Amino acid sequence: MQELTLDICLRGVDFRVSGRAEAVSDIGGTLRLSELCVCREGSPRLPGEKALCLAFMLSRSGAFSHSSGAGEPLVEIETLILNPETGEISRDIKQKTAAELEAVFLRHLKKKLGEARMFAERARLVLPGAAAVKFPYPRLRAGQEAMMRACYSAMRGGRRLFVQAPTGIGKTISALYPAVKFLGHGHCDKIFYLTAKTSTQAEAYRTAGLLFSAGAHLRILVLTAKESCCLCRGTKTPDMPCSRGICAYAGVSGERVAAAVVRLLELQNGYGQKIIIKIAREYGVCPYELSLELAEFCEIIIADYNYAFDPLVRLKKFFEDPQNTGRHVFLIDEAHNLAGRTREMYSAALCSSDFTRLLGIYRGEPELAAALNEAAGRLRGMRRLCRQDMMRDEAGVEHGYYISRELPEGLELPFRALCGECERRLFKPAADPAAAELAMLYRKLLRFLAALEYYDERFLFFCRVEGGETIINIMCLDPSEILARHLGRSEAAVFFSATLTPLEYFSDISGGGDRAETLALASPFDISNLFVAAVDNISTRYEDREKSLPGIVACIAAVMSGQKGNYIAYFPSYEYMERAAAKFSTKYPGVQVLIQKKGMSREEKEAFLSAFRAEDHKMQLGFCVLGGSFSEGIDLPGSRLLGVIVVGVGMPGISSERNIMRDYYEQNQRSGFDYAYTFPGMNNVLQAAGRVIRSDTDRGVVLLIDDRYATPKYKAMCPEHWRHMQHFASPLSLRAAIIDFWKGRTS
Ligand code: SF4
Repeated sequence: MQELTLDICLRGVDFRVSGRAEAVSDIGGTLRLSELCVCREGSPRLPGEKALCLAFMLSRSGAFSHSSGAGEPLVEIETLILNPETGEISRDIKQKTAAELEAVFLRHLKKKLGEARMFAERARLVLPGAAAVKFPYPRLRAGQEAMMRACYSAMRGGRRLFVQAPTGIGKTISALYPAVKFLGHGHCDKIFYLTAKTSTQAEAYRTAGLLFSAGAHLRILVLTAKESCCLCRGTKTPDMPCSRGICAYAGVSGERVAAAVVRLLELQNGYGQKIIIKIAREYGVCPYELSLELAEFCEIIIADYNYAFDPLVRLKKFFEDPQNTGRHVFLIDEAHNLAGRTREMYSAALCSSDFTRLLGIYRGEPELAAALNEAAGRLRGMRRLCRQDMMRDEAGVEHGYYISRELPEGLELPFRALCGECERRLFKPAADPAAAELAMLYRKLLRFLAALEYYDERFLFFCRVEGGETIINIMCLDPSEILARHLGRSEAAVFFSATLTPLEYFSDISGGGDRAETLALASPFDISNLFVAAVDNISTRYEDREKSLPGIVACIAAVMSGQKGNYIAYFPSYEYMERAAAKFSTKYPGVQVLIQKKGMSREEKEAFLSAFRAEDHKMQLGFCVLGGSFSEGIDLPGSRLLGVIVVGVGMPGISSERNIMRDYYEQNQRSGFDYAYTFPGMNNVLQAAGRVIRSDTDRGVVLLIDDRYATPKYKAMCPEHWRHMQHFASPLSLRAAIIDFWKGRTS
């Protein structure tokens, strides 16, 4: 591998061209540049322009010694072409003189002239506007200035900052504004605004638009998931790789994509999904590919966490390519989700039934069938690992478990081979009725293999037997090191959320590292608008749940007795929630009850939320689960939601996996139980409670039910704006206090 760099001036534009030659050798005095190329049937033959340009750069590197008969130096370009469908490798050798290579190189550079001039022009015209942009609101809210100052200082210092910014601070603008200034002053080239949910992206886009109107004429792109902008959604499942066989837009020429990019750049400066799909259709290119190309030209990129951290979809050209010298900052919204999401990205599972079912389908295809058989055999072998912990239930079904920090020897090989076979089959143009299922397995294998690449002492391997099924898992226990590595290439990163308690815990699990800074801001709202209370003589622990129900029902009724309107009660599990809902409905049939269901579709969720209207003036109670779709990221302002009741302390259910996480952190000098259970649980509680007060005119009630809220540990985790929390032992006294609150007699 040889790094090559060439500085060259063309028509008044200074270029620095960098590249990497895969292999360079001296063959009998002639310099040879070799490269491997994966080339499907019908793809253009090589060497391509890139190899010829590299060869030219090599010819200018001083490594040249040989000449053609005419006295011209020669370079050999050897291309090893791997056909992924057949596995065959063919070889192609071309000899070029330095003059021939120079002609190709200059032709290529000329194509880049327009782009280079545009970047230079933008730096001259746009950056000063961004540097000078005025804050786009008439006044600063409480906490905003502190947050913006801390963000800018962290960016200048190249640090990671964790900000707890309660609802109402205006955290999106408080993070984006200093980042735009930072970019305007030439300290970075791109801002990646990363979100856990698509719903947050609209607010980031709107805020970036405000800064645009205020003079920061930056280009803003919302990068949407491939499956949501795909033009072949009817024929292609999300797991299927894109190929010419299923999609006419796959692999279209780079020139066509470039033309579509130019069209978008001419049209406007903000790019959401709609305009990208429209132009993609016009130019006959893939919208996803188009948005990736367009990202090169945008300064603010709003995207899911995946695009920065997921090993399968991470934007390698920005975050991994050593040739890309672009500097970026990360703004990480709803950052309390980051560690959990990253754990999922680097965890994977494979089930024996996936292989055996497909084996039945692909028996007639020898290579694929052999690879499936091999992988299934590997899982059968794993079954033996569980022998020591195997038992039979009453029905005679076997259950077993095996856990290890060490990976079984040679685990990867059969799955890697199968992955190759799946890819070959999925790229074959022949129709395949089982393609969707094979694609699903292919995707699982890719994730499994990606997780294996990162496997170290922060991971765990385990195998489970459930009857005839054997399941192997790679589990990422601690994503901090992976995140730290990915964050390492950024200039700075700001993590923010309304709930990052305790800040040190979130910094630790999210890759903050030793130099991370933290900032906790106070709520900008009048705390007397919130009635916050705890009933701390009821245990909601698993064994006490049945006997807790009458008390819980009475407390919910007490909360609702102060004011007619909409309320939500959050529970730690569906089962507990359903039992409470049944009891409540029997006792209070006049209250309209809505109950969250498992696996609700988007439409069902929208219908559930739209039932929370302000103008109905009826008694309505939603029963939801903590940590579910309705406990964070929903906005029911004003009188659309008058109060929430949180039952329990929000802890994730006790499980072997969580216990292993607990032990892992314990062994690493952390409070294991708190890391695995208490802190994630309290975050669920704070998120659910945060649904009530959404603006400075909102009034509402938060009631927490659990005896643990009386302990110093839980009191310490309550936010500053709950300092007036009251504790009650009976629904009657609670009811009286709530009536007083709504009558304006107390807070
Ligand atoms: S190339 Fe683009 S449009 Fe075609 S299937 Fe893939 S994502 Fe969809």
